[in-house]
Amino acid sequence: LVENNAKPIWHPMAHPAEMRGNPPKVIMKGEGAEVTDIEGRTVLDAVGGLWNVNLGYSCDPIKKAIADQLSALPYYSGFRGTSTGPSIELAYELTQWFEPEGMMRAFFTSGGSDSVETALRLSRQYWKIRGQADRTKFLALKKGYHGTHFGGASVNGNANFRRNYEPLLPGVFHTPAPWTYRNPFDETDPVRLAQLCARAIEEEIAFQCADTIAAFIMEPVLGAGGVIVPPETFMPLVREICDRHDILLIADEVVTAFGRTGAWSGSRLWGVKPDFMTIAKAITSGYFPLGATLISEKVADVFEADKTSFGAIGHGYTYSGHPVGCAAGIATLAETKRLKLNENAAARGAELAKALEDLKARHALVGDVRSKGLMAGIELVSDRATKKPADKKTMGKVADAAYEAGVMLRVSGNMIILSPPLVITAKDVARIAEGLDAGLRAAG
Ligand code: PMP
Repeated sequence: LVENNAKPIWHPMAHPAEMRGNPPKVIMKGEGAEVTDIEGRTVLDAVGGLWNVNLGYSCDPIKKAIADQLSALPYYSGFRGTSTGPSIELAYELTQWFEPEGMMRAFFTSGGSDSVETALRLSRQYWKIRGQADRTKFLALKKGYHGTHFGGASVNGNANFRRNYEPLLPGVFHTPAPWTYRNPFDETDPVRLAQLCARAIEEEIAFQCADTIAAFIMEPVLGAGGVIVPPETFMPLVREICDRHDILLIADEVVTAFGRTGAWSGSRLWGVKPDFMTIAKAITSGYFPLGATLISEKVADVFEADKTSFGAIGHGYTYSGHPVGCAAGIATLAETKRLKLNENAAARGAELAKALEDLKARHALVGDVRSKGLMAGIELVSDRATKKPADKKTMGKVADAAYEAGVMLRVSGNMIILSPPLVITAKDVARIAEGLDAGLRAAG
């Protein structure tokens, strides 16, 4: 297994030859917040799978729900004409869960990239139904991450995810992320920065002409782009701008939904009601691939009242509403609610934030630390004054030494990204801090 690891698998987001030289770890088992590799080493998974395993690796109610559904009905299509019990029940649960955000309907998908694709497509269709077929453009934030399909890659705000696949969707425009550590305005005050970023959006809208823009897409807390936590005034400002110009707002909540930030959604955290929400990942805690695009009343009403041929949705996936995925989702939501994972994310997140500040005070390599609940980013720099990003070798050393010390980290560029299961304890937070400390000492 170890030898073949990097040969037959073409690994995502990796150079194939590099993977052969430095094969990925082979994970064989998981329990609680820990995973065990093929050599028998058990480590705390500070990555939480990939932002998704909120309930950890031994959640029996989810496993049972999957097994029961597999026996009863392993699959039936959720296309027009048929539906299954679990998909109806989960859709109902989701509309209850996200009622404060104003979500009325759930369109099921197979994951986050699909959910984004669906939101982008339906937002264009919405305008066609309303007789404004010119509204086709999308606005997004630099540093935003929205998945790998052509639509999602087009609205991604990171060159690395775009440049090899161009030409992407035309008519997509990006404005600066509200990021105090690095921004084009050299502004460190969060309130002023939010205003400057909002003004940049206004300028772009004026330049593009509002009546050519379908939607604005953003993550309430930017994840893969480096855990950028916007000032609390920012997303409400975006909502206000979108309302004023009649632009739809898509909240990409693939990471932020279901408690990771300490709130049940990122939109709720900032007090915003979007027009679409895209969700995936923690909806099944990673136990089965599933996602959904949630649709607000305003959008649903337009589709329902439509008398043109545009109202029919020419869009769907073989696995839309997969009964096993939906059964996993129902069990996940029940456990998530029962364990009040939002509250644990907020409490453990506050401890983690304190530990990260402490590491920053002790290690010159740490340029900036950012977190909200249990999503956190540590930006490593070779020089604090110039903010020059730490090199690949340094990042590798940190991750390797942390692993030796019993903690799995995720490195992305010069960022260490943390998104542990939301079931972690105060002791686990201390373990993560110790692992980071060991990593930073080895590389410093
Ligand atoms: N949107 C966001 C905000 C994400 O973080 C991700 C995945 N990290 C996606 C979309 C894509 O999700 P998936 O990998 O499930 O397709």
